[in-house]
Amino acid sequence: MGKKEIEEMILKCQRSGALDKARWLQTIDQKVPPSFKKRIQDNDKSIYRELILPTWVTWDFLRDWALDDAEQVKCNACGQVTEGFTNYKSITLCTECLENLRKM
Ligand SMILES: [Zn+2]
Repeated sequence: MGKKEIEEMILKCQRSGALDKARWLQTIDQKVPPSFKKRIQDNDKSIYRELILPTWVTWDFLRDWALDDAEQVKCNACGQVTEGFTNYKSITLCTECLENLRKM
């Protein structure tokens, strides 16, 4: 779920009068801080014990949201948006660039 989909959801909520829901979605980045987002990506459901989430926020929704963001990670070497990225010495590399680096 990308930013666009979230925005569409917000609009839908606003139109149907679900303003609390719209407000929550607008501030989802603050409601679910990056460290938690990382744990959602790792499928760590214990975040439920630490975060206060509205009942309509399902795990599938959170996963969708967190994973889409992960997919937007760009390779530091070739600048491609990549899924299979690796953190190598604190830089983000796609598998291809990592392979090239290993060959050097
Ligand atoms: Zn790359």
